[in-house]
Amino acid sequence: MAVETKTTCPYCGTGCGVIARREGDGQVSVKGDPDHPANFGRLCSKGSALGETIDLEGRLLHPEIGGRQASWEEALDLVAERFGAAVAEHGPDAVAFYVSGQCLTEDYYVANKLMKGFIGSANIDTNSRLCMSSSVAGHRRAFGSDTVPGTYEDLELADLVVLTGSNLAWCHPVLYQRLAAAKAARPDMKVVVIDPRRTMTCEIADLHLPIRADGDVALFMGLLAHLARSPALDRAYIAAHTRGFHAALAEAEALDDATLQALTGLTPAEIETFFRLFAGTTKVVTCYSQGVNQSTSGTDKVNAILNCHLATGRIGRPGMGPFSLTGQPNAMGGREVGGLANMLAAHMVLEDPEHRGRVRRFWKAPVIADRPGLKAVDLFRAAADGRIKALWIMATNPVVSLPEADLVRAALSTCPFVVVSDMSGTTDTAREADVLLPSLGWGEKDGTVTNSERRISRQRAFLTAPGEARADWWQMAEVARRLGHGAAFAYQGPSEIFAEHAALSAFENDGSRDFDIGAFADMSNEAYEELPSFLWPRPANRQGKERFFADGRFYHGDGKARFVAVSAQPAERRTADFPLTLNTGRIRDQWHTMTRTGKSARLSAHIAEPFCEIHPRDAAALGIEDAQLVTVTSPLGRVILRALVTVRQAEGALFAPMHWNDAYAAKARIGALIPGLTDPHSGQPATKNVAARAAPF
Ligand code: SF4
Repeated sequence: MAVETKTTCPYCGTGCGVIARREGDGQVSVKGDPDHPANFGRLCSKGSALGETIDLEGRLLHPEIGGRQASWEEALDLVAERFGAAVAEHGPDAVAFYVSGQCLTEDYYVANKLMKGFIGSANIDTNSRLCMSSSVAGHRRAFGSDTVPGTYEDLELADLVVLTGSNLAWCHPVLYQRLAAAKAARPDMKVVVIDPRRTMTCEIADLHLPIRADGDVALFMGLLAHLARSPALDRAYIAAHTRGFHAALAEAEALDDATLQALTGLTPAEIETFFRLFAGTTKVVTCYSQGVNQSTSGTDKVNAILNCHLATGRIGRPGMGPFSLTGQPNAMGGREVGGLANMLAAHMVLEDPEHRGRVRRFWKAPVIADRPGLKAVDLFRAAADGRIKALWIMATNPVVSLPEADLVRAALSTCPFVVVSDMSGTTDTAREADVLLPSLGWGEKDGTVTNSERRISRQRAFLTAPGEARADWWQMAEVARRLGHGAAFAYQGPSEIFAEHAALSAFENDGSRDFDIGAFADMSNEAYEELPSFLWPRPANRQGKERFFADGRFYHGDGKARFVAVSAQPAERRTADFPLTLNTGRIRDQWHTMTRTGKSARLSAHIAEPFCEIHPRDAAALGIEDAQLVTVTSPLGRVILRALVTVRQAEGALFAPMHWNDAYAAKARIGALIPGLTDPHSGQPATKNVAARAAPF
């Protein structure tokens, strides 16, 4: 008999509700959940192909030690012994966890608790560092907390939607569908796309600004100066609810027109059209994603955008506000439980002794990390140079996805003890493991995820766990027990972990009084099973609290938001030897390193092999013809890709997708080309502006 289960798509940060139908013969089909407020029944190509990606090929079914099958008992004993020994001999900072936006909130919570409160180090970072950490840093600087003010509905209510550094059509396809439908229903609505490439998102754009790589800070500084000269400036709002306006404006006004045009690569007419449109439209939402975040100036870009919304008071109101689009299914859930090396749970910060004390009291922890840990790029460099003696990687494939990917591979072979928990035993990262632990995958594991609008949804199990696969949180709790912390990790299931996360969020927290966070602390397992999706934190009175900052109160001590006086710096990386700018990103039908989507023939038919977009004039100058194999070389390495000659690509620049690895195509790991340059505030790597050259293969 067929059984239907309501769950959530495991791919992008849109967080669509899915109904999975399992037939009596085990076949699985999926459809969109019409009742889910993220997608109202819609699914994109990736989500609708989920049923095609459930098979056991390549699955890791048993623990392995040194390539031989082992029992859970033996493997967990070894992990605990080696982590315990490394801490005893070298101190807590000699060990590290590297987790993932694919982890469920409950997995993330347990990983953070174990590392920060019981091992005593903050060396736990996540592949979300590559996704949205610049937005986290920008939010904290402006708002005093990492808070996304708006909801998806705001994109539909706006009269102007600005998409900067976001190929929404391919990277958040259902959100794009919602925006396209809203624009079709209200043709006066305007859409501006700011992107070096003319992406598919430009199909609905009234204006496309083909900005130079990393020109965003300059553009939004210029906009702030323009707003200050226009009636759009909300002086009353600035005076009542913000600080720092004059310093930020002074920096913006110091940027002359010639420099603005040089840094953005835009014409005066393009700039003027955008500025007038923004100033003249009250209901504006500015969405930003990886094109903003993945940069050495990512945090400044975020604050340059936030400055413009604060200057106009367009924040926290229907159809208005800045909106960070997270790439991964649970980047936001990870943020909620402190899943970054510089954060604690419930948006508390490691630098604050009061926050550390509160978390330690709640956990009754023997220690608490007292300083930020290593962020992703630095974490693997520390593994490479011998500072990390034991490393546990969960649900991610950094040998393909991180910058300096060859250094990451070398780091894993150098590190004395590497544990990998994953569904797959055949990834480039899994091959470097001393211990492999089989994890549950989508459809098998139970827990929650949080999407870009702070909406928590349940991922529910509807498949039997294959082989001996177990949940990531269970694996960590078992190691914690072996390290002598059994009482603090005696969870019977994910509902108890979620309830503890809610209780910690409410613990000694005056700021939670408007929300019924504490109600979840007493939640039964049955209530957790039935949990409908909801915005987190859930307002206590459910009225008018869906958006943050509607009342003009922010989370800095004085309740006021901060303008940040950013300055625009040239980010020219090209040289005579590497005269092109390589930009990297996603394609519509693949996800990350393809360990799941690569199984669907339908998805692979969209774009079958790794490619490199190049402008026709660059191609002609280099003797490259369409569909020919080319080499793309950076100072770090070389890959072989298929040329795609197109005017969608700006002159002087290349675009290559991030997905392929050496298992799918020879020498196609883009991460091996990308240097480990990072944003100084967020530690997020810059993957959109890499010096490179191209040549016929
Ligand atoms: Fe899944 Fe994102 Fe597609 Fe929705 S838009 S179905 S969350 S990949």
